[in-house]
Amino acid sequence: MKILVANIGSTSLKWRLFDFSNGQERMLHKGGFERVTDYSKVIEDCLGQLQDAGHIASEKDLAAVGFKTIAARGVTGCVRIDDSVLKAMEAFNGIAPAHNPPYITGIRLFSRRMPSVPLVALFETAFHQYAPEAEMRYAVPDAWLEAGVRRWGYHGASHKFIAERSAQLLGREDVALRAQNLYVNGGSSPIKKPSLRVISCHLGGSSSLAAILDGLSVGTSMGLSPQSGLPQNNRVGDIDGFAVPFVMRTLGLSLDEAERQLCKEGGFKGLSGVSNDIRDIHNAAGKGDAKARLALEIYVANARHWIGAFLAQLNGADALVFTAGIGENDATIRAAICANLDQLGITLDESKNIQTRAQESVISAAGSRVKVMVIPTNEELVVAREARRLLENK
Ligand code: ADP
Repeated sequence: MKILVANIGSTSLKWRLFDFSNGQERMLHKGGFERVTDYSKVIEDCLGQLQDAGHIASEKDLAAVGFKTIAARGVTGCVRIDDSVLKAMEAFNGIAPAHNPPYITGIRLFSRRMPSVPLVALFETAFHQYAPEAEMRYAVPDAWLEAGVRRWGYHGASHKFIAERSAQLLGREDVALRAQNLYVNGGSSPIKKPSLRVISCHLGGSSSLAAILDGLSVGTSMGLSPQSGLPQNNRVGDIDGFAVPFVMRTLGLSLDEAERQLCKEGGFKGLSGVSNDIRDIHNAAGKGDAKARLALEIYVANARHWIGAFLAQLNGADALVFTAGIGENDATIRAAICANLDQLGITLDESKNIQTRAQESVISAAGSRVKVMVIPTNEELVVAREARRLLENK
């Protein structure tokens, strides 16, 4: 069974082709295009590359195309995409303005090009759907909640991968299985006690932390939109809701302009004035740029804030996992986040931390009560696995 996973950005299309034949799980091909202006053409080019590489004779060899979709009104989990799903995504365009519109456009083009191939969405909100209401509700009027204003949480595919993989690495196959079966049975598979408590730190172009209890998300740093939580590349992260009307009145901004600045002029870029890429900010900070240094400190402080919250929620942790571009590669940020947490059971092995780049590794000291780990994420694999499960269960 071959499943194509298509990652659609506002100007990019990236893909990975997975093969699940003979009980194996193999990635056959990956590729992509940046600065895309004509999606129909790049879909054709993608199929052309898969054919030229000998992986498919035509699109009919694809069991499904999977998409890591973001959010939709009243729809989450892993679902077969039809018009009602696309309409539900459209209704949440305002929550994920950078992501939902290109996905909707791209999916419609895939559907036109290959009407007989099942198109499957795994929503980024899915992994958090069973988190306790007390962690997910905002104290807003009921009408706001009905409109969709609550914490949803994102990076679900990545945090789910970390939930499964960390459980495997910690010798808890029972928990890994529960994490795997999540969307099938609501996570009701039996768990051997004691519970497994993992804090997953997805730190990348956008960042979020999740509290994971026995393979299920019970808390997330991301709220209503993927613009929330930690400072993001150029999106603000968490902010007091009253800031928006205040700044609109004080600076005379229109709603559209305030929204644009929240999306484009905040986060790393707004704080540092240098770049939205943490590597550039490290460079500037190294040369004595005070704003760049503060941007890094704010990012670290925000991550620690959520680690503290999740340590309280989970009554400690068995593992603290770093993943995604920054989490996998940036030893300086990992060290800063873990500094002075020995009273909470977290002590890094400095040299293991420095040596670890984009590979699975335990980076905590031998006596650290909490195992600190680096685990490269694989979001596309999670999408492909879930798409396969959906097809096999139908
Ligand atoms: P996304 O998929 O959300 O765009 P990634 O997980 O690929 O994000 O992370 C991208 C970010 O990771 C980059 O913006 C960069 O700041 C950071 N990054 C990537 N490689 C490195 C590295 N070698 N060292 C430090 N940071 C890195």
